[in-house]
Amino acid sequence: MSRHRDPRSYDLDRLRAEMLDHDGGEVNDSIPQLASADPTFCAIAMALPDGTVRSTAQADVAFSVQSAVKPFLFALALLDTDGQALERIGIEPTGEAFDAIKLESDTGRPPNPMVNAGALLTASIVDGDDVAARDARILTGLSAFAGRPLEVDEEVARDEHLLGDRNHALAHLMRAEGTLRVSADDAVAVYARACAVLVDAEVLAVMGATLAFGGRNPLTGEQVVPPEVARDVVSVMATCGVYDGSGRWMRSVGVPAKSSVSGAIVMSAPQRLGAAVISPPLDEYGTSVRGHAASKRLSDELGLHVFGSAPGVD
Ligand code: GLU
Repeated sequence: MSRHRDPRSYDLDRLRAEMLDHDGGEVNDSIPQLASADPTFCAIAMALPDGTVRSTAQADVAFSVQSAVKPFLFALALLDTDGQALERIGIEPTGEAFDAIKLESDTGRPPNPMVNAGALLTASIVDGDDVAARDARILTGLSAFAGRPLEVDEEVARDEHLLGDRNHALAHLMRAEGTLRVSADDAVAVYARACAVLVDAEVLAVMGATLAFGGRNPLTGEQVVPPEVARDVVSVMATCGVYDGSGRWMRSVGVPAKSSVSGAIVMSAPQRLGAAVISPPLDEYGTSVRGHAASKRLSDELGLHVFGSAPGVD
């Protein structure tokens, strides 16, 4: 008999209550809307193969998705370019911060789609001739992953665009290298709007589940992207999704995931479930402190580690 618990009856409220005692970390202050986030906030949700969504208190409170959008941008870029995105963006981990001003030295390509350089590029190659068309394409695509219509927080989008100096720098560098083919400002505009899409933990869990189930949304039944696209995206989440903390994450949690500065973490446990935790205080790798702890517990107790669970390994 399995020593693991059944996700259908797993006590998420108990997990959340225990996480609330977990202190530490700093709330990101890159834009005013993130700086004012409540450090005690904590929401957890999971989406199961039959489309059931299980969640805690606060799992319906909206946050900007920030970098948790990157796997889905990559998926849309792979779909819209018929896989050509893989020629324009690397897939190797960087061991550096999410916004490092660095491209592949031999090709000038962004190192992978989970860091800012890569996400700026993926957002620039989805279908659409201008900023408005690419923005609309991204919103439609993300909504299909979520199984409900999503919206952009206009204030967050504006501030991300205005205050994202490192993103402007990265876009200009990619222009200089010839790897970015739209204007630097257009690339930042589309990426900023994608980061400003509002999600809650329930929505994010369904989005993660859609990747976990080979691109098929378990809520709506829609095949949002082909299985091979979902497989490519989940592979890169496993190796690069938690930035320079990806190795540590993979060993301890063992579930492909993407972290973000809003404190959101989206997880895709292949053929098992999608899950999300949102809690703003971040560790030195930009990963939610409670999000990491809660993800580890879910992985251990539900047996989600893709290389076999290892309870008690921190
Ligand atoms: N919008 C953020 C930025 O580009 C996303 C970074 C993150 O969530 O890790 O700086």
